[in-house]
Amino acid sequence: MKKDNYNLSKSALIEEIPLACSDELAAVEFFEKRRWGNNPCCVHCGSLDVHKMVDSKTGQRNKRYLWRCHDCKAQYTVRIGAVYEESRLPMRHWAYAFWRAATSKKGVAALEIQRHCQISYKSALFLMNRIRFAMAPDTDNQKLAGTVECDETYVGGKPRVPGVSKHGRGTKKTPVFAAVERHGRIRRQVVADVSGRTLKNAIRGLVDGQSRIVTDDYPAYNGIGREFAGGHETVCHTTKEYVRGDIHTNTAESSFALLKRGITGIYHSVSKEYLHRYLWQFDFLWNARKMNDGERTALAIGLAEGKRLMYRSPEEAR
Ligand SMILES: [Zn+2]
Repeated sequence: MKKDNYNLSKSALIEEIPLACSDELAAVEFFEKRRWGNNPCCVHCGSLDVHKMVDSKTGQRNKRYLWRCHDCKAQYTVRIGAVYEESRLPMRHWAYAFWRAATSKKGVAALEIQRHCQISYKSALFLMNRIRFAMAPDTDNQKLAGTVECDETYVGGKPRVPGVSKHGRGTKKTPVFAAVERHGRIRRQVVADVSGRTLKNAIRGLVDGQSRIVTDDYPAYNGIGREFAGGHETVCHTTKEYVRGDIHTNTAESSFALLKRGITGIYHSVSKEYLHRYLWQFDFLWNARKMNDGERTALAIGLAEGKRLMYRSPEEAR
């Protein structure tokens, strides 16, 4: 099914969003447009022979915004198969939460969504967790390529104790690995530790073999150049060398700075168990940074489709 989401002018998308955040019919139609473009189809059989159901008395759209398929006779709504399928929350709250999550550089707290949408904290958390899941990279994502900066850091937990823990090692902070293309995409992962074995495995998983790897002189990365056609360059941070020609890890470091400001400023503390979700969100924002707010919101909504069955929430399963 060909979609024509992105043929809309950039400004048109932004203009639609405020109404979609306040009016339920506008919200439903906004999501329908993102999903089907101008060719609404049946979510069960793919048929284009479908119609919006209307209330026989008022002639208005059916209260549940149902569609009906003439081929398989099924009724359905735009929620089916997307991360919002199991939710009874109005679609205008989903629109608002997607908009905020896709446009706030430093993230948006569930507490803020709770206040603005006047929903419970539990509902706000449900919304945000599913939106972050929608933003997660697909497993078939293309590997990073070109010049790829790799770096590791520690996120969250208590502030480090001076003199006791160098670079967060030995504290309750969570190690996070980042691989970022120069002028391109980023992928970050929570890692079990910062050993050579773990970090090299992370690089192998995320970076294409033709790439050039750039790291600092942390010894865990030693030897990784043998596995990449572009080799491995290092800047010697221990002797205060930060840039040598185009060899530096400034992109990875600024991505960590942004991540940490978001985590500490908005989310205060994120436990190790859930940190990966915030990485999904921050990576999405980084990777879509050249889009305008309307396009980025539409992209996040587009990614929500087809992800319902994959969602597993440890805290909700308890
Ligand atoms: Zn059908």
